[in-house]
Amino acid sequence: MSIASKPIDPAALKSAILDKLVYSVGKDLDRATRHDWFFATTLAVRDRIVDHWMQTHREQAGDGHKHVYYLSLEFLIGRLLADALNNMQLMEPVGIALSELGVDPDEVLKVEPDAALGNGGLGRLAACFMDSMATLGVAGMGYGIRYEHGLFKQGFDSGWQVERPEDWLAFGNPWEFERPEAVYPIRFFGTVKESEIEGRKIYLWEGGERVLAVAWDTPIVGWQGQTINTLRLWSGQSGNLIDLDAFNRGDYVKAVEEQVNAQSISRVLYPNDSTEAGQLLRLKQEYFFTSASLQDILRRHLARFETFDNLGQQVAIQLNDTHPAIAVPELMRLLIDDYEIAWDKAFAITSSVINYTNHTLMPEALERWPVSLMERLLPRHMQIIYELNAQVLNELRSKPETRDPDLAEVSIIGEGRDRMVRMGNLAFLGSRRVNGVSALHGDLMKETVFKQLHAFYPQKITAITNGVTPRRWLLSCNPGLAALITSAIGDRWITDLEALDELTPLAKDASFKEHFARIKRSNKEVLAALIAKRNGIGVDPDALFDVQIKRIHEYKRQLLNILEAIALYLAIKQRPDADWQPRVKIFGGKAAPSYVRAKLVIKLINDVARVVNGDPDIDGKLRIAFLPNYNVSLAERIIPAGELSEQISTAGLEASGTGNMKFALNGALTIGTLDGANVEIKDHVGDDNIFIFGLTAEQVLERRSHGHNPQSTIETTPILREALDAIGQGRFSVDNPSLFRPLLEDLRTTDWFLVTDDFKSYFDTQRRVDKVYADQSIWTEKAIINTAKMGFFSSDRSIREYADVIWQAPLAH
Ligand SMILES: *Cc1c(COP(=O)(O)O)cnc(C)c1O
Repeated sequence: MSIASKPIDPAALKSAILDKLVYSVGKDLDRATRHDWFFATTLAVRDRIVDHWMQTHREQAGDGHKHVYYLSLEFLIGRLLADALNNMQLMEPVGIALSELGVDPDEVLKVEPDAALGNGGLGRLAACFMDSMATLGVAGMGYGIRYEHGLFKQGFDSGWQVERPEDWLAFGNPWEFERPEAVYPIRFFGTVKESEIEGRKIYLWEGGERVLAVAWDTPIVGWQGQTINTLRLWSGQSGNLIDLDAFNRGDYVKAVEEQVNAQSISRVLYPNDSTEAGQLLRLKQEYFFTSASLQDILRRHLARFETFDNLGQQVAIQLNDTHPAIAVPELMRLLIDDYEIAWDKAFAITSSVINYTNHTLMPEALERWPVSLMERLLPRHMQIIYELNAQVLNELRSKPETRDPDLAEVSIIGEGRDRMVRMGNLAFLGSRRVNGVSALHGDLMKETVFKQLHAFYPQKITAITNGVTPRRWLLSCNPGLAALITSAIGDRWITDLEALDELTPLAKDASFKEHFARIKRSNKEVLAALIAKRNGIGVDPDALFDVQIKRIHEYKRQLLNILEAIALYLAIKQRPDADWQPRVKIFGGKAAPSYVRAKLVIKLINDVARVVNGDPDIDGKLRIAFLPNYNVSLAERIIPAGELSEQISTAGLEASGTGNMKFALNGALTIGTLDGANVEIKDHVGDDNIFIFGLTAEQVLERRSHGHNPQSTIETTPILREALDAIGQGRFSVDNPSLFRPLLEDLRTTDWFLVTDDFKSYFDTQRRVDKVYADQSIWTEKAIINTAKMGFFSSDRSIREYADVIWQAPLAH
């Protein structure tokens, strides 16, 4: 099909870009900066997207399309230009056009800042899902917050993480369209007045603060531009732009106070990805974007159908974790208070429309808000929550088999000294389906956090394994490998990743193997150059590239990795002439600014790196590089060069992981525990093509309840003891030998994440990796099998399953 109504040949694009440069950016050829070229190019490409976008709007307005709304506090979408060019298949003509203008296309792509609207995997999943929904023709819309400052920028100062403000909007954002007409009022605090009209109870929530949510839309381009969906992000504004009386009195602060307050709601993204931020502002953010999104959804539905009777047939809402769980009482409130629908019907509608995805089982990461806070900020919602809770508990109490302790588990309100609203229970009870993000995670949900809820509602929990979009995570980030695959099996894999299985026989084909290995080697050279530039160290592209990139968190166990590096370092120093497999350990990842322990791990990695890299005895056999400011763009450069993918979380704690999928797709072998989606990766690639070590989820629980004795494990594992002693003696922190004592103390006493228990198994498995890597022919075979068997892990497959099992929404493509 024709993919754009505006011409897309290089000559037409060239004049379109020039036109934008002069008339939209206001520069001429001679004075244009790289930024100007990026703007002009994006605006020219955007014109070619907009026609399709409008077309999609018209198509989706019909009643044949169920609307799917994806509510997420994070969208880690990264750069958009390369993605849009790839999906519109405009990369080549735009490249030619820019070159003819004397501009390097790569430089233009690289100046685009990453849209830093997320912390990690949860936000990146939302971005992959948006891509797959558009590609499959689901009428899907994302809703989130337009954070003026996304996540902080990470730098290092003497090995310590330093946080600098993120300013991704500083030069403006050519992708977004402000929609001043799509504005909704959001109330905080205030009081609820009850009255009665004609025997019906009326609740009037009034007073308090009011802010406005203003919409900003970004087009999301599906493959070949057949469907262009929308990501709608909300920004905080005040209805009163300025208090003129105050201004005229000379009180300039007061004059803009209200505006500043309102804008602060969408100012920052909370850097915590798995512990509750605890700030009132965070709860305000959650309610702000959820309420605006629901008001928008209801308005759009009414314009289409003039009734809410069919909301369940025509609309599905997906809550990405509990951050938007306030949607349950908010939808009830809007239906009951604003649209005068009776309670029972409102609940029936709500629980047929809303679905919830759970992302963590760690108790400390389950969202809860003090009842007292919720009562103050959202008094009407607290009433609804109480009533909903009473209704559910009464219903369950009437069943003969129900015991009181079961009801306490199910309750939305956690009793105790501080009464809490449990957002997980609220989301569960208000949802039609509750999804786990991998097979193991789904099972564990049923056995742990939602055990009792599952007993009462056995049909609710589903387990649809996460996926990643092959467009960004292979086609775009690894053009060499993508081209090789297409030359071997055609390009069907781009939208049907299972086609990669046709590569399986080629794992034994000498010529294919050679090509595959050459591409990996060339990607490694690119990464080596980046490491030289960012970290000032040389690494040998022939060494094994061993990579752990992800948020820094105790459960992800970067500490286990660096302890293994220390043990290896000490072993090399003892026997420098032995036949060591040269290895480069690459780290990347941010720690939440308040997460002291994680920041100390970063410092340890950087300090060990300094000592190891500077030790002449080591002579390049081991190098360690921590690349600063991990984000999507950095991931796109590191992953194609990765050979060993570190997925070493304490079993039972990584719900799925998606980094593991990206690496295997690009031909890395995984070293990992039987956790999250690693379990399914192992099933797909086979035991011979993955390195599994450590305790299973079941053994972790058992070990924690009895038999966990870190002190004795350390004593009976000399290589571990020596590694810990080296840290304790200050070998990596000569100026301050006790610097890392908190880490050592914890390992010797609590070691909640079972680093000591898994150490030996991990170290031995790494030596097995060394041996396999020594035979490059065998390693390449295994790498090819990994790529070939990743078909299942496409986010297209995830979205097909969501559309079928959860949303019951048809696919257009
Ligand atoms: C994929 C991705 C993640 C998630 O990585 P995990 O290893 O699954 O934790 C986090 N951040 C970025 C930038 C990503 O691209």
